[in-house]
Amino acid sequence: MSTDAEVSKNILEPSERIEVNTLTIACDGGGGALGHPRVFLTLKDGQAECGYCGRRYILKAGIIDRTGL
Ligand SMILES: [Zn+2]
Repeated sequence: MSTDAEVSKNILEPSERIEVNTLTIACDGGGGALGHPRVFLTLKDGQAECGYCGRRYILKAGIIDRTGL
């Protein structure tokens, strides 16, 4: 349904933005009826998008600079 070729124009897109503090995260779509098989995503350039549910994971600012807060 959604293509990630160009994401510069998002008009009322239902995808969520989720801030994370690790470079590798697991997404299962939230579980339940709306869920999907758990997949592991690796953030690139501070962000990753789940190919199943379209959620966008964004690395929290400052995590790379300051580890072990
Ligand atoms: Zn997902």
